[in-house]
Amino acid sequence: MSSVAQDLDAVRGTLPKGVRLVAVSKFHPIDKLMEAYNAGQRAFGESRVQEIVQKIPQMPSDVHWHFIGHLQTNKVRQLLATRAIDLIESVDSEHLLAAIDREAERLGIVARVLLQVHVAAEETKFGFSPLDLLDYFSNRRFEQLKATHICGIMAMASNTDETERVKADFAAAAALKKQIIDMCPDLRGFDHLSMGMSDDYPLAIAAGADIVRVGSKIFGLREY
Ligand SMILES: *Cc1c(COP(=O)(O)O)cnc(C)c1O
Repeated sequence: MSSVAQDLDAVRGTLPKGVRLVAVSKFHPIDKLMEAYNAGQRAFGESRVQEIVQKIPQMPSDVHWHFIGHLQTNKVRQLLATRAIDLIESVDSEHLLAAIDREAERLGIVARVLLQVHVAAEETKFGFSPLDLLDYFSNRRFEQLKATHICGIMAMASNTDETERVKADFAAAAALKKQIIDMCPDLRGFDHLSMGMSDDYPLAIAAGADIVRVGSKIFGLREY
């Protein structure tokens, strides 16, 4: 068994039923992705448009591609034109959401997205603030979307070894998801909570994550 297949198995062995593993393959070459694919992995996460558009045609067509990086409005067209994106997890502003919706409508497709919420301590991370997110749903602005389905939220915890801080960040994201559902009980398919990476995904699952995005634990360290 390849080391990717072994590491993938080890991660899978720790996941409860119902938790979806996204193998974050950014900066890794196609042969590594194929090792994971041949070991049964189908969901892959990439964070750069240029890289994902190159990889998509080189991989089998039943891969579920998740886009997880900061997406510039002027790259939306290129990303959606692949018609291969299962989920854009990192929608971090209403401006970007509107751009995605326009482009999806133009292409005659439905874009599936998660809204990224900023719960971490660092100021540099992208995302809706919790207040802006609640404002968006309490004013039901999602009703303006024509070709976009908001499937839930995505969050990243603070980049720290302090377990309590990480737990608090994940709990905050889980609470937001619940608040939104309570506020808009008619929202359909707002089911997903994507949080947790190699170092913290068990804590994310404990807090309610149903999608985890694991890279280095499967593919090894990235060479940037
Ligand atoms: C790179 C990345 C990951 C995976 O990180 P690892 O620590 O390698 O598991 C997860 N989520 C996002 C948004 C990322 O950019």
